[in-house]
Amino acid sequence: MITIKTEEEIEKLRIAGSVVGKTHKYLIPYLKPGITTKEINKLAEEFIESQNCTPSFKGLYGFPGAICISINDEVVHGIPGRRKLKDGDIIKLDIGACYEGYHGDSAWSYIVGEKNPKDEKLLLHTEEALMAGLSAIHDGCYVGDIGHAVAKVAHKYNLGVVKELVGHGVGSKVHEEPDVPNYGKIGKGPVLKKGMVIAVEPMLNQGTAKVVMLDDDWTIVTEDEKNSAHFEHTVLVTEDGYEILTKRD
Ligand code: MG
Ligand code: MG
Repeated sequence: MITIKTEEEIEKLRIAGSVVGKTHKYLIPYLKPGITTKEINKLAEEFIESQNCTPSFKGLYGFPGAICISINDEVVHGIPGRRKLKDGDIIKLDIGACYEGYHGDSAWSYIVGEKNPKDEKLLLHTEEALMAGLSAIHDGCYVGDIGHAVAKVAHKYNLGVVKELVGHGVGSKVHEEPDVPNYGKIGKGPVLKKGMVIAVEPMLNQGTAKVVMLDDDWTIVTEDEKNSAHFEHTVLVTEDGYEILTKRD
């Protein structure tokens, strides 16, 4: 069942979402060569807790980190550890925060130091795909409308669309119904109503759409080891569009 949130719930989701946005902003200056992903994870956890929230992903399905940190060909669910950031790395931070039982969820991709044009374009185009997906949202739209809009942008730039991982409803659980795939047909899938909250999260690859899981049973990487980008916002469905809850100001 896809739940419609009450005003009171929406207010908590707004606070959780804004803390996620603030955590991203807080971490950006630290994304420099030499820092370990474990250090970034610690900074994120301390910041989220300083905002009267808890990190949503810590312990979720047994995940060992406070946030997910994935680099280059790692698509999602990277575990923070001793790996140091290098010049030119694409780093994806997937951050969740929980405020009084309600969650916000937003992933964003960044390039560390020196940027190469191919990676810069990957990030730009994946963000464009996210915004195109969000543009399809309004009271009465179909989940398929969102996926269709995301995939259209991906195909325009010849990027691989990861199909095994999808967006989702958000509320008192981080992952609620419905699934929100990054592909779909217009007019197909569940209908979205005003007051529903979903996360839209394209994961687009420079090469193949195919992904595999590493031996750590968490990290998902591209099969051809080419780079991947991930952009995600949690949004509230409104009468004539959407409100981004994980705003980055
Ligand atoms: Mg996420
Ligand atoms: Mg998500």
